Amino acid sequence: MVDSSAAVAVRLEDVQKTYRTGEVDVHAVRGVSLEIARGEFVALMGSSGSGKSTLMNILGCLDRPTSGRYFLDGDDVSGLSRDELADVRNRKLGFVFQNFNLLTRTSALENVELPLLYGTVRLSNAQLRDKAERVLEAVGLQGRGDHHPSQLSGGQQQRVAVARALINDPEVLLADEPTGNLDSRTSVEVMGIFQDLNAKGITIIMVTHEPDIASYARRNVVMRDGRIVSDRAVTRRFHATEELEKLNELPPDVVEPTVQP
Ligand code: ADP
Ligand code: MG
Repeated sequence: MVDSSAAVAVRLEDVQKTYRTGEVDVHAVRGVSLEIARGEFVALMGSSGSGKSTLMNILGCLDRPTSGRYFLDGDDVSGLSRDELADVRNRKLGFVFQNFNLLTRTSALENVELPLLYGTVRLSNAQLRDKAERVLEAVGLQGRGDHHPSQLSGGQQQRVAVARALINDPEVLLADEPTGNLDSRTSVEVMGIFQDLNAKGITIIMVTHEPDIASYARRNVVMRDGRIVSDRAVTRRFHATEELEKLNELPPDVVEPTVQP
């Protein structure tokens, strides 16, 4: 028997989110229905205030919809308690943030191990280390495990954050403006990691306001005033390996314009 729900990573049904602040209600999300299959790479776009972060908080089980339903990996999670949501987050989701959110006095390896310490599965120290080293390798940071964030570039710090998000083998990787604090070359490198992970089957939902960055995804969903106003496949997709090659071919003064005295 074919279980069609197994192919669906997330499904939102008429989701609304209203913030009640004093006398005014803010309708941040106004009836969003959205289905994302396993293995998709979606960029969520829209201007500031359009409801992207609110929707990501719901998708990330950090907040609950005011009305409507949310199915994650086939389960209805819209009515779960805070503790139950925390459990779902640990088991099924990985998060990457704009400002990395790494512990600064802790090595890369320990940063990556952190989510497992809160998990329900108990691992030995050797198993922990092993797993952390494997995900660091997956993001191209093998041998950098004992470096502290201050000894790493912005791009490398974001890779550590991606490795940390992967340690629980999440169903979905959620990233809110993951390139917001990175220069353009490093942004393309991080998109390269996302494309590699996606090619291995990981579902990715990424918020960005940069059309260039959105073109590394496979599908672009645009929000305005709490609603989805456009949802389409990316036709001219960027491939990070090609874009990095182009950047390498440019003479340095084109990449970094020098100011003439
Ligand atoms: P975006 O991420 O696209 O900039 P948000 O989801 O952050 O949009 O915000 C959507 C709307 O909801 C905005 O009008 C914002 O001011 C409002 N909003 C967001 N979070 C809260 C909150 N915690 N309380 C009240 N209003 C909020
Ligand atoms: Mg936002």
